[in-house]
Amino acid sequence: MRRKLAAGNWKMNGTGEALTALEAIAGAHPAATVDLLICPPATLLYRAAQAVSGSRVRIGGQDCHAANAGAHTGDISASMLADAGASAVILGHSERRADHGETDAQVCDKARAALDAGLIAIICIGETLAQREAGQTLDVVCAQLAGSVPDGIDGSRVVIAYEPVWAIGTGLVPTLEQIAEVHDTLRQQLIGRFGSETAEAIRLLYGGSVKPGNAAEIFAVSNVDGALVGGASLSAADFSPIVTAL
Ligand code: 13P
Repeated sequence: MRRKLAAGNWKMNGTGEALTALEAIAGAHPAATVDLLICPPATLLYRAAQAVSGSRVRIGGQDCHAANAGAHTGDISASMLADAGASAVILGHSERRADHGETDAQVCDKARAALDAGLIAIICIGETLAQREAGQTLDVVCAQLAGSVPDGIDGSRVVIAYEPVWAIGTGLVPTLEQIAEVHDTLRQQLIGRFGSETAEAIRLLYGGSVKPGNAAEIFAVSNVDGALVGGASLSAADFSPIVTAL
């Protein structure tokens, strides 16, 4: 059975003071039966990992380079994330695809590097509003899925986050039917490519304006194994009810 996952993406938010919120999140779920992950900015990774040690919360990065080391000024490798205390990394977030022109092929290479470093790879996909309105959603997410996920994976170490670009930070959320349609399609695609055993081990997260008020209904949708939460992961007051809803 897939373990549910509540993951927080802090994006470019948080300096040292944010560790207080992280400690509050960690302290709120001492006996969590779901997996808990917070992905702070890289500058906080080491201190965050120290702050949650002994709790149920794990720490993740928000990106990594595809190479293990070398002349790549400003970049961070997957093994460096692991060394800082991370156990997972978000890859191919739409903000990185938009801000840094990341392609499916690059995301795929990064995912391979992350898995080789022993990290869980959280691979993000999702359509824009224009693509949704043009009826291209399933084509877009299936192409991103095919191009961004490496071959030969251990399904338990790969997570797919479906994040419609138009739902991120907007308060807009797809209908439950729309979420189900995408997640069911993704599961079928994964079964077709990897076979049921691997595909059924891959967790499918929904992301985009998940809040305490809508989490429970989203988590009840078929093939939703948790959430990738942005803004509402920055405080225990917002994140904890989402964890509890899972
Ligand atoms: P919000 O929850 O703030 O909409 O962000 C979602 C997201 O991008 C998580 O990766």
